[in-house]
Amino acid sequence: MAAVPALSYSSYRTYQECPLRWRFLYVDRLPEAPRGYFTFGRVVHSVLEELIAPLVVPSARRAGQNDRQRTLDEWHPGHAGPPTPGRWMTAEEMLLAYDRAWSSEGYVSAEEESRYRALGRELLLRYYDFLVRERPIPVAVEEHLETRWDGIPVHGYIDRIDRTPAGGLEIVDYKTSRDLSNDDARDSDQLSLYQVLVESNYAAPVHGLTLYHLRSLPPLRVAPREPAALAGLHDRLGTVLDGIRAEAFEPTPGRHCNRCDFRDRCPEFRTVPVTEGERLRQLVDRFEALRAEEGRLEAELRRTAEELHRAAETLGVHRVPGSHSVAVRRREEAWQYSLDPVRPLLEQSGLSARVASGTPEEVRRLVRDPSVDPELRRKVAETGARRVKWFWELEDASSDS
Ligand code: SF4
Repeated sequence: MAAVPALSYSSYRTYQECPLRWRFLYVDRLPEAPRGYFTFGRVVHSVLEELIAPLVVPSARRAGQNDRQRTLDEWHPGHAGPPTPGRWMTAEEMLLAYDRAWSSEGYVSAEEESRYRALGRELLLRYYDFLVRERPIPVAVEEHLETRWDGIPVHGYIDRIDRTPAGGLEIVDYKTSRDLSNDDARDSDQLSLYQVLVESNYAAPVHGLTLYHLRSLPPLRVAPREPAALAGLHDRLGTVLDGIRAEAFEPTPGRHCNRCDFRDRCPEFRTVPVTEGERLRQLVDRFEALRAEEGRLEAELRRTAEELHRAAETLGVHRVPGSHSVAVRRREEAWQYSLDPVRPLLEQSGLSARVASGTPEEVRRLVRDPSVDPELRRKVAETGARRVKWFWELEDASSDS
């Protein structure tokens, strides 16, 4: 059985998406090609860390790596009050920090890089204004937390943890990428995992979870997860952990393959040997042509059977000779039941359990069951509707001669 490293949110998501890609990244430690949008996100996060770090209330930090945070306990209303935070960077200082942190890694062109660079300045300046107005009380930035959550080792880097006016904690995660909605904040497994990490490392309760979509502002803020939602995540993490332990690293192809750097190693994308290329190309072309023919034939078969059925119905015949075979019209009957009128009848007789799964097949079985009162069976049968289906079979013409 494989040793399992602590699961982060991105490791968990990677395994869920494709276990083989997880193996390439976390077991084989293969590097991925740098991408501009990742570099961009990293740079913006690092500037925000630099901006917020001086404001972190120093005494609110945990005393040691393995200590539970205690200082917020002492920090209740009526106490001496929070320690004075450090000085805000000016907006100009923040932009200088942005220039220092900038990296050209992963952009596909100078034009793309300069577009991202301008976007970053705009986002940071807008967020700066927002922060100055909101004046959060951060107690941690970019904090690495880990825990064992009922047997599952998990860890994560949390962008920011704020103190709320009521003395609790708010978990903040910045997003620089795609559009976000309230649903993202409500459904995010990432925020759920962060809640678990903060709750097991901090003494104060988590009062809120917030996503800051830096492109749109304002914050998407939701209440902390209920125990049932956390239990669901625990189950999903457990499933991933079991898969890793069992070394289940099957490729799972999908749209995510478009951004996978390991296609050249993945069996799903193994190429056909040159020597076999032409033979297999012809087979694929033939298969494609047959598929098209199959669809056309099925439609034509249906139309012909319907026309034959209409003619036979008009003439009142069931056997129609052809040149080689005889087409024989067969009927199939089935009784369909709606459960609404059946249930009260069965309840009166104490037989409700006979349709426990609510399928018409259960009712049909009951109607045929000789051990059930015949009067009840008759009443139930009367609630049904008979469906007749006609179909054609071919018989050898010689059997009619
Ligand atoms: S190419 Fe697709 S299936 Fe193959 S490892 Fe990458 S993500 Fe998985």
